[in-house]
Amino acid sequence: MTVKAYGAHTGDSPLVSLDIERRAPGAHDVQIDIAFCGVCHSDLHTVRGEWAGTLYPCVPGHEIVGRVAALGAHVSGFKVGDLVGVGCLVDSCQHCEECDAGLENYCDNMVGTYNGKTADAPGHTLGGYAEQIVVHERYVLRVTHPEEQLAAVAPLLCAGITTYSPLRHWQAGPGKTIGIVGIGGLGHMGIKLAHAMGARVVAFTTSESKRAAAEALGADEVVVSTDAAAMARHTQTLDLIINTVAAPHSLDAFITLLKRDGTMTLVGVPAEPHPAPAVFNLVGKRRTLAGSMIGGIPETQEMLDFCAQHNIVADIEMIRADEINEAYERMLKGDVKYRFVIDSATLAA
Ligand code: NAP
Ligand code: ZN
Repeated sequence: MTVKAYGAHTGDSPLVSLDIERRAPGAHDVQIDIAFCGVCHSDLHTVRGEWAGTLYPCVPGHEIVGRVAALGAHVSGFKVGDLVGVGCLVDSCQHCEECDAGLENYCDNMVGTYNGKTADAPGHTLGGYAEQIVVHERYVLRVTHPEEQLAAVAPLLCAGITTYSPLRHWQAGPGKTIGIVGIGGLGHMGIKLAHAMGARVVAFTTSESKRAAAEALGADEVVVSTDAAAMARHTQTLDLIINTVAAPHSLDAFITLLKRDGTMTLVGVPAEPHPAPAVFNLVGKRRTLAGSMIGGIPETQEMLDFCAQHNIVADIEMIRADEINEAYERMLKGDVKYRFVIDSATLAA
């Protein structure tokens, strides 16, 4: 079937309205009418070809929420009309060690929701800036928030799980002090989630103007990272840092804030590498520099249920599909509090 979408034909042209094809649902597929799709910085990196390997036309979007419109004959876990979500992956090999552990995000054959390999036309996956999507049931999540929160649930599917997973892996909770670096889409979710897990939260930002808002999100303290004296006051105070910054910067400025045995995990993936950190800052206190990528399907469901129980959603600014190019420019300037979400009803306009 042909549906309306928004995407780009090349890395240096704006996103425009496109008609794309979706497969008819197979036996294990769920066909979803997309209501809203969040706008992740990864969408921008990919559509502009900042990471190697973008295939065009590129239709981004991996923070998808909507309603089940149709089901394949063998789907048992969903019914027509259910509120559902789709995050960053729509397939994986389903039999490797990672898939068996529910860590499909680390499967070598994981298929991204966009720019992934598929038998469907045009040979690569097309994402959520579209009216509909068809996804194997294993990769469809159940949304239990009230329907009126649906738009603000969308960013949980990437920004939420990308911060939830490392917070759980490195055991954020009472008695721990967690640093969140960069208060954008990922960072603002990191603050909310770490706070809800009972940890003490210190937010690091380059934008003084975000101070009050960061406190309202749940930060116990906000530090402007360009203020050397304020940074120095936090030396050796943090158990874990989640670094969400989408641009190269000095990692040492944050590594030195870790306690002995502390970990900084990178989740931001800039187009250019960070300057290499000083080895002494790591070995001197047995610190770890780590990385983490989204989360597996069971943990994504756990995160959605945790958020529903704690009444957590993203802070969003709704946009029309034809405002997406302007939204990218504003995201680059850090001018979004804290996630743009596309109203899919505007794709057909
Ligand atoms: P975002 O909304 O643009 O937020 C990034 C934040 O980083 C900005 O709001 C800003 O916060 C801070 N920042 C400081 N200097 C910056 C600069 N020169 N350029 C850009 N940002 C700067 O982006 P996002 O959607 O949260 O994504 C952040 C990064 O994570 C991206 O690289 C994205 O591709 C990546 N990502 C990774 C995963 C994963 O699985 N690992 C998943 C999703 C996204 P302040 O104003 O507070 O300084
Ligand atoms: Zn994302």
